Amino acid sequence: MAYTYDNENIFAKILRGEIPNDTVLETEHSLAFNDIRPQAPLHVLVIPKGKYVNYDDFASNASDAEILDYTRAISKVCAMKGVAADGFRMISNAGRDGVQEVPHLHVHILGGRDLGRMLN
Ligand code: C5P
Repeated sequence: MAYTYDNENIFAKILRGEIPNDTVLETEHSLAFNDIRPQAPLHVLVIPKGKYVNYDDFASNASDAEILDYTRAISKVCAMKGVAADGFRMISNAGRDGVQEVPHLHVHILGGRDLGRMLN
């Protein structure tokens, strides 16, 4: 898989309205929706509307307004879903070694249960 931006990736199609999604929050520059294969009681994906392949691309090339909107969208989802107090996990897979499936930046927000330790 190439980790360059591909206009035909599934999240680009969601953003164009070509395939449906279960929207949790939409802001000027971001969209949050429930993952179709949830790995926890809460499993939301937050994506920027701009064409950024991964976090590095986004942080390097997005405008300040996009970055502010995106970071706030992530915390709004946590507040809306009531996981801010009990805790949650954010993951963003990037590239080959990160085993990124969809080449459009997305942060997974997981919560609603004890997620166990990932790192020791
Ligand atoms: O981080 P990674 O790229 O592996 O994750 C992609 C995520 O997108 C998966 O968790 C998958 O279930 C989700 N997905 C989705 N809706 C789609 C296609 C994939 O929620 N239509």
